[in-house]
Amino acid sequence: MPIPKSHPRYLSLKIRKQLVEAMEKGLVHETGLIAHGRGEAFDYLLGEQTISVANAASRVAAAALLYATHPVISVNGNVVSLCADECISLANAIPATLEVNLFHRTNDRMVALAQELYKHGAKEVLGKKASAHIPGLEHDRGLCDRKGIFSADVVLVPLEDGDRCHALASMGKYVIAIDLNPLSRTAKTAPLTIVDNVTRALPLIEQWADQLKRKRKDELKAIINQWDNIQMLGEVRSFISKRLNSLV
Ligand code: ATP
Repeated sequence: MPIPKSHPRYLSLKIRKQLVEAMEKGLVHETGLIAHGRGEAFDYLLGEQTISVANAASRVAAAALLYATHPVISVNGNVVSLCADECISLANAIPATLEVNLFHRTNDRMVALAQELYKHGAKEVLGKKASAHIPGLEHDRGLCDRKGIFSADVVLVPLEDGDRCHALASMGKYVIAIDLNPLSRTAKTAPLTIVDNVTRALPLIEQWADQLKRKRKDELKAIINQWDNIQMLGEVRSFISKRLNSLV
């Protein structure tokens, strides 16, 4: 059924439809829909907007990706289905490597997601060749590409799970998480968390990258060093509670 543009929840309904269709095409795992639901609930509490600390975090993310020697953008089914173009555009702008990395990994879904990215214009997509394993993660969840995530110094992980985020950080990587839930293990484990919807955060990181790309390495480093993720998560919690108290 087509969603009328006049519907007050048009965007939210459109995104749900997009994800259901992506699941039917084999791009999104069933649990991806549930994960989206959790994200949606937090987006509702935030007022479906990029709050100022998320904007500041996106600026630091751009600085970290530009500063990196080997930046990688790790994508899953939800991310490709919602923002394939934004991922590719950001990867080109930095430049960074794109890698598909799945919690529920199957060969079919790895191939389908890479094909989807190529269809949208990606130059190279890693992930299918599982040539390395992230230490501390059992089974297929730890599989990755030696030339990609395994050897990256900075990894952008939109919608990651807490375990993998922790394992990547334990490898010494600078992990940038995008997660609408400021209470998730991922949000608390990453040194830099953007508490925002991935659909808003990715284009914003690219806008900041465009503004910061002429900065010297020491200037980028200074931007990264001044970031305090724990303090920022506190600011998000207080934003949400103030907003809730002001609503009737
Ligand atoms: P953790 O292991 O970090 O505690 P989790 O078990 O709560 O995570 P997962 O199911 O692994 O969550 O991943 C889903 C996460 O992605 C949720 O925290 C949810 O808030 C977030 N999320 C879902 N959709 C979006 C979106 N569009 N933009 C940003 N974050 C999202």
